[in-house]
Amino acid sequence: MPQFNFATVRRHLENREASLSPHAARSAAGRGRAVAEEPSPVRTEFQRDRDRIIHSKAFRRLKHKTQVFIAPVGDHFVTRLTHTLEVAQIARTITRALNLNEDLAEAIALAHDIGHPPFGHAGEQALADLAPEGFRHAEQSLRVVDKLERLNLTLEVLDGIVNSSKVREGIFAEAWGVPSTLEGQVVKVSDAVAYINHDIDDAVRAGLIGENELPREVHDILGDRHSQRINTLVCDIVEASWAAAGEEPDADAEVAIRMSDDVAAAANVLREFMFQRVYLLEDRQEETEQAKNVVRVLYEHYSQHPEEIESDFVILDDPPWQRAADYVAGMTDRYALATAARLGAPTAAGLLASGVTDERPR
Ligand code: MG
Repeated sequence: MPQFNFATVRRHLENREASLSPHAARSAAGRGRAVAEEPSPVRTEFQRDRDRIIHSKAFRRLKHKTQVFIAPVGDHFVTRLTHTLEVAQIARTITRALNLNEDLAEAIALAHDIGHPPFGHAGEQALADLAPEGFRHAEQSLRVVDKLERLNLTLEVLDGIVNSSKVREGIFAEAWGVPSTLEGQVVKVSDAVAYINHDIDDAVRAGLIGENELPREVHDILGDRHSQRINTLVCDIVEASWAAAGEEPDADAEVAIRMSDDVAAAANVLREFMFQRVYLLEDRQEETEQAKNVVRVLYEHYSQHPEEIESDFVILDDPPWQRAADYVAGMTDRYALATAARLGAPTAAGLLASGVTDERPR
């Protein structure tokens, strides 16, 4: 019977990474962790990060956080958790096709929204207006894994998380940072591929748009159906980014994660359409204001009474505003609503009652 030892397992893991593209990140040659640790006997460092993220409390709470539609009651609306899983899925497909490090992409994807406040963008905007140093969910995601839950992740995963969010101008705009690894860049674009598509589904479900109202070039270039559109985008990214796979070394080929011009243009048309018709829709302003008000009530209350914060994940030496921001940002939609109601916020009851209440499987 062959001798078992963990050194053999490790050699297999490292050999597998050695066969990746020369442009892939390799855990064995990584930048390490802030606090050095003994290696896991059966996992690479990036696998280990992925597992830590999945076991964190903040990750579990994603299931009750809004993606776009606030505190939806309907079973089929996308939540922050299902969005996160879709991003991880798309990022894994692209990294595997490009022979990049799938484990690294998965870890970054699973944590990219882990610091998102309740009520989606409305909650983020409310905290940005209130906190003296502003608030951005990508920076909060970094803070959650690094400072609050203290997961001691690798620097590649932290870099991918903090550089994952996009500005309004376009999917490939660089204003909020470019991840240093190709795997981080894959997650950044996979986030957009996921949300512009699942948000169509949700907007149709909520009656805001009809699927046949999508702009002509979206139908013509990306496809008529959800699965076609994701497939078009993913295949295009793989083709346009093929230099990253390192198959045919070409000194002139730029190694980057990108889309072809036509598909990128159609994706940005779709994204802009979603901003106009869904994200910034006037009809949703009342709901948005109610959600912001809930966050405001909570933030102001806990800034003034930080001693009432019941959480293992605030830092007692931090100023009260920071403890309040961390606490409120960590809340699920329903916990925020219930807490605000307990504190006497006038609008919370209205938000709790909204949404579709009976949804058949379809
Ligand atoms: Mg996201």
